[in-house]
Amino acid sequence: MSFYDLRDALAEPGCAVCHLTRRASEEFVDSLLWESVNDPDARDRIREARGFCPSHAWALAGESASLGSVIISHDLLKNVLRILEAAKFQERRWLSLRSLRGNRESLSAKEAAAATTRLVTELTPQAQCPVCAHVQEMEDIYLSNLVEHFLGPDGLMAAYEASEGLCLPHFRGAMSRADNKALFEVLIEAQRRIWEKLADQLEEIIRKSDYRFRDEAIGQERGAGLRVIAALVGARPRK
Ligand SMILES: [Zn+2]
Ligand SMILES: [Zn+2]
Repeated sequence: MSFYDLRDALAEPGCAVCHLTRRASEEFVDSLLWESVNDPDARDRIREARGFCPSHAWALAGESASLGSVIISHDLLKNVLRILEAAKFQERRWLSLRSLRGNRESLSAKEAAAATTRLVTELTPQAQCPVCAHVQEMEDIYLSNLVEHFLGPDGLMAAYEASEGLCLPHFRGAMSRADNKALFEVLIEAQRRIWEKLADQLEEIIRKSDYRFRDEAIGQERGAGLRVIAALVGARPRK
């Protein structure tokens, strides 16, 4: 199935893997909101991660905090409150030291860190953001499939060559999976052609910014200033 997903995504603008992982992330957020809000296993995983990374927490909340997001957040907040309720300042091992030094009021920074470490640890995520973890898993599936089905008569190479290529982070991911010299070389060749074309378009933008060429019509370089950012760092997150 991911072969066809890849083939379709390669026909879309931008990096195919960015496109697919963004979709995977949106679908996962929806499923969390609609299906697994009351699933005890999902709740446990969310609680263990102490919720979500900032960008996925905001994605989950949407524009006006849906009911699903409220239910999940309430559970997380209650969990934080339980941790605070059980919190203890663990100064015991420093007591004797302190009396030796003449009973001063405050502990040194190091002693304070030791006395509060249990609470701080419990407030720290014990697992990765569940959406990030899912996205990483899907990214791995897509990159492995792309590389595996790149060559050969029905391979993805032609679709790739006609696409805007992968973004740099996903290209790195693909290259790290290229397990033979032929594949290594065709991947680089395909990506180089795509990026050289993009570099030419940027040169056009720069050239036409000169007053002598300012009246020339805009060509294929339209939008290249933003496309190059996506090529270097990945697709812009949706609001
Ligand atoms: Zn990408
Ligand atoms: Zn995340």
